[in-house]
Amino acid sequence: MAAGKRRSPRTTSAATEGAPINLRDEGRVRVLRALQDSGCSSRSELISRTGLSRATITTLVADLIASGVVEERGDTNDGLRRAGRPAQPLALVASAAYAAAVDIGHQHVRVAVCDASGTSVWERVAAVDVDHTPTQTLDLAASLLEEALRAQDIPRERVLGVGVGIACPVETTNDTLYAEGIMTDWVGVRPADELSRRTGLAAELINDANAGALAESLYGAARNCNHMIYVRLSAGIGAGIVTSGQLQLGGNGLAGEIGHLQVEPRGRVCRCGNRGCLETLASPVAIANLLAHSWNRPVDTDELFRLLEAGDHGAQRAVEDAGEAVGRCIAAMVTLFDPELVVVGGELATAGEPLFEPMRRSIRRHVMPRSAENHRVVAGELGDRAAVLGAAGLVLTKAPDVLAQTRPTAPALP
Ligand SMILES: [Zn+2]
Repeated sequence: MAAGKRRSPRTTSAATEGAPINLRDEGRVRVLRALQDSGCSSRSELISRTGLSRATITTLVADLIASGVVEERGDTNDGLRRAGRPAQPLALVASAAYAAAVDIGHQHVRVAVCDASGTSVWERVAAVDVDHTPTQTLDLAASLLEEALRAQDIPRERVLGVGVGIACPVETTNDTLYAEGIMTDWVGVRPADELSRRTGLAAELINDANAGALAESLYGAARNCNHMIYVRLSAGIGAGIVTSGQLQLGGNGLAGEIGHLQVEPRGRVCRCGNRGCLETLASPVAIANLLAHSWNRPVDTDELFRLLEAGDHGAQRAVEDAGEAVGRCIAAMVTLFDPELVVVGGELATAGEPLFEPMRRSIRRHVMPRSAENHRVVAGELGDRAAVLGAAGLVLTKAPDVLAQTRPTAPALP
């Protein structure tokens, strides 16, 4: 796969948003998008990435530099130096736009502000009983965001919006949570509207597994990969699917909810109302509960991870069996979507080989032999920051369209 053909993953609905723009603006958008996808490009690379002529690129780049949204970098240590003459690599001005992001887990709120390059410039995580305190959680997220903008002295007009990742299925048809049985106190709450009202910024909601898929694609283990599946193994289990560079949300936003694939027909009743779902076997809570039942004493997830670190045989066996079950579900996704890469994140991924070895073995056993050769299974690179970075990435995918509207404040230098 050629890195030059790489496209940043976008949600399937984002491409159709926005008002019609004129040809010059469209050229500016193409250049800005090429720079966002590549991080840094010479003018010659922009010609091949955008399909625009050298003359057009020269004009547009001068225009974008004068507008303060593109800059020339002196740093040419990325292979662009040719015959002693620097290729003058171009990049987005990082401070030209920002994205705010909130990750709402079950027990924490994480807030970040990222610049136009996707680099987090401020980040904070706070422990809070999210499941039972929607109003306090949203108040806290909003106040942390205000603190971030103050601390970094970021003008509010440069913030493109707030991405809100949440540990709950999100129905994209009406931007609501499917919280029944999952985050019951959040039923009827509209987190994006609530945060928008509190901050005055446009807000957009995304499920945490989909946010993780975006983040690992943009900034993590799946950079330069157009076909990937991200699996999040946390209190909830879910997957984000990227095919041909597009994040696939399905007709209602519920694609990839693999936590509710049935793996044990006679298993436990799941919080979704079905029986024997993957989540009832392979979430850290389910594994801890299995040990608690066997040992006839309370075991929480913190103890589970301590036991794993200490090499406890029972804890390892329980995680291995979970890995085997997760592998069967991933095998179904590999068969359906033929990814190049499967990225596994969420807190259970920190269990390492006791999880990954049986998971890889189980996938190999349940897919066609050729499919087994065609993909790799790796741990995520972004850890517990994946959801918040993906929520920021969701907002930043709009940056080229917004920055293309910036007009020069002074004549371009000769
Ligand atoms: Zn279920």
